[in-house]
Amino acid sequence: MIDSHAHLFEQYYGNDLTTLLQQLQETMEAVLVVGVDRKTSEEALQIAEKFDYVYAAAGIHPHKARPLNKKELAWFEQIGKEEKVVALGETGLDYFYENSPKAEQKKLCRQFLELTGEINLPLILHVRPAAGKNDAFNDIFKIIETTGRKEFDGVFHCFSGNSENAHKAIKFGFYCSFAGNLTFANDPELEKAARQIPAKRLLAETDSPYLAPQPKRGRQNRPDFVKHTVKKLAELKNLPFDKLSNRLKDNFFSLFCGKN
Ligand SMILES: [Zn+2]
Ligand SMILES: [Zn+2]
Repeated sequence: MIDSHAHLFEQYYGNDLTTLLQQLQETMEAVLVVGVDRKTSEEALQIAEKFDYVYAAAGIHPHKARPLNKKELAWFEQIGKEEKVVALGETGLDYFYENSPKAEQKKLCRQFLELTGEINLPLILHVRPAAGKNDAFNDIFKIIETTGRKEFDGVFHCFSGNSENAHKAIKFGFYCSFAGNLTFANDPELEKAARQIPAKRLLAETDSPYLAPQPKRGRQNRPDFVKHTVKKLAELKNLPFDKLSNRLKDNFFSLFCGKN
């Protein structure tokens, strides 16, 4: 089993973190631990260096967005060279909470899109529109179209858009990763998107410690709960669980571990 996006940090799991990481060693083939600022990006790398099945991503969450100066950009370039750092991000546009100004989120996002193009790493994007709107998706596609890059590598994590957004993301070269919200009651638009995305462009994740899938909803999430989301995806795609599971594994390794 693969969890393509989790935040396994002490600030969430406290003293249970080491036990959790040891337990997961028995059941998980890969877990991508995703940094949300420089501190957690470093923590992600430390965990990845300790555990074979853990990979790391280094980024700055849109909640904490502000443009990076040269020194900070160099820092991300540097950490991106570490063997176990397989992506930059997460970063992106969160207009639902809008914890930082949209203009700053957009600038940071553009910087990461450019940097990952230069250093040839995938980018993990977090895109969440304001309630009832498509604003964050419209803006991210505008940014993507105007970077000057022709090809992209990366993923729209915790995908929450409609099928039109999914098609656009895929057209640019991104994967779409589904999280526990897919298992919550009845989101026909999201389910339709999941049905339409080709299996070779799908990933599954937990976004631990948040968003535990049904039937674990309300509990603290953990990477092995990803199976509930994979099960739901398999139902929607009308594919056997094992077949989809293997496909998701291949997708994960080709996106994140195909790096030179
Ligand atoms: Zn996110
Ligand atoms: Zn996340």
